[in-house]
Amino acid sequence: MTAKIIDGKEISKIVREEWKLEAEKLKEKGVLPGLAVIIVGDNPASKVYVRNKIKACHDVGLHSEVHEMPEDTQEVMLLDAIRSLNENKTIHGILVQLPLPDHIDEDKVLETISVEKDVDGFHLYNMGALVVGNTVFPPCTPYGVQCLLEHMDIPIEGMNAVVVGRSNIVGKPMAMMLLHKNATVSICTSKTRDLNQYTSMADILVVATGRPEMITGDMVKEGAAVIDVGINRLDDGRLVGDVDFDSVKQKAGYITPVPGGVGPMTITMLVANTVRAAQSIHKLG
Ligand code: NDP
Repeated sequence: MTAKIIDGKEISKIVREEWKLEAEKLKEKGVLPGLAVIIVGDNPASKVYVRNKIKACHDVGLHSEVHEMPEDTQEVMLLDAIRSLNENKTIHGILVQLPLPDHIDEDKVLETISVEKDVDGFHLYNMGALVVGNTVFPPCTPYGVQCLLEHMDIPIEGMNAVVVGRSNIVGKPMAMMLLHKNATVSICTSKTRDLNQYTSMADILVVATGRPEMITGDMVKEGAAVIDVGINRLDDGRLVGDVDFDSVKQKAGYITPVPGGVGPMTITMLVANTVRAAQSIHKLG
């Protein structure tokens, strides 16, 4: 079997168009959805991510602004900047680009963002809401994965879903979303004793480990949908995922490429969450 490629770029274009229409409806009612991104320091990868997020907002016709703060910014300054954006009526979504410098308490920062503007979905309230099935802003990467599965008409209910990785931003929310869609979910970590035993029973396998090409064809069930969240830059400059694309493609039913799979969807779902925030703040949803 050769897997169908899940074209994240193409699907993200379609989804962006849908949210563009929603944004236009808001604009007709006098509301221009706005996103503020705060970036602290000069991390080159973070700068690229921020640039792409701003471009996506621009493409969909949203207002966006970047607040750049120096690496040595004191935590209190960052918290003040967030509080001021919480009060700003032209801003509906606030995102603080991670990672932050070591001297800043990430949890404190995320909890300072107003719950109703928390478009990354990382605030404790939004995390809790996700657990109880009352999602306000689904975290963008797993939300993007769910959207890819839905666009490809890949059934979730009753399927064995295995998520490799348990980070707060990808693995855990992903597992929760699949559970809410009635999959039977297993979560694997670096401590899992026999990873192969789990991955090879997965109808849906989502991999988010940051370990280049660690999932190989022999670890995957024939016909499975394999979603590769990983983005790893190798020493030779190549960008690869956490899945060995060439061997897994021979066995899976569906596979996401890297780049061009989950990445574009993450950014698109940020746009979706920003429009949704504006709808909710102005009660126009
Ligand atoms: P983290 O480093 O926060 O978490 C990695 C997880 O993988 C941990 O739970 C870890 O287990 C687990 N893990 C590590 N090695 C193994 C192993 N050998 N077997 C099983 N589990 C393992 O990473 P993130 O979730 O933040 O990111 C994961 C990847 O996704 C990265 O490549 C990142 O760049 C990418 N990413 C891509 C995005 C996109 O838009 N496409 C967005 C966000 C991330 P343990 O908890 O036991 O340590």
